[in-house]
Amino acid sequence: MPIGKCSVCRVQLTKENCRPSIFKKGSGYCNACINEWQKRWYRAHPEAGREKRRKYWTLERRLARSREAQEFKKLAISHYSNGTMACANPFGEHLTPYRNLLALTINHIEGGGGRHRKKAKYWSFYKWLARHEFPEGFQVLCMNCQMIKKIVNNEMHSELQNRDKTQPQT
Ligand SMILES: [Zn+2]
Ligand SMILES: [Zn+2]
Repeated sequence: MPIGKCSVCRVQLTKENCRPSIFKKGSGYCNACINEWQKRWYRAHPEAGREKRRKYWTLERRLARSREAQEFKKLAISHYSNGTMACANPFGEHLTPYRNLLALTINHIEGGGGRHRKKAKYWSFYKWLARHEFPEGFQVLCMNCQMIKKIVNNEMHSELQNRDKTQPQT
């Protein structure tokens, strides 16, 4: 197939490395060069980038995304509660299963949930869980039990630290 090279980096244009219209024309820029050019342009025009994002994130798009996040949340809560959709109730807080989805969260059993969350590139932690086929080590907790867990863990932590301090130096 007679097809040209990228006008900038001289790479051979193929169906995979350039846009269909450019491939058809047989001359132009490869995707990498276009992306690089765009990146540079938006870096030089930060206000244009902001404006574009503002226009893109219409109310409809934001609502659609939040609905999608809710769906992933339901999937995750269902998975980690074995379908009961209830708080794991590790402190005996609830006499009847607690099921208000608004106050249910996925909790990292060993802690470190925050660090985990930051590492995930996904816009939704629930989506990240779904995409990784619901890895082990998570549980469903309501905000209440999560707060209790935090305090209990912190107390244990400081107790251990105090014990360390009071131990005679050898
Ligand atoms: Zn190129
Ligand atoms: Zn709870």
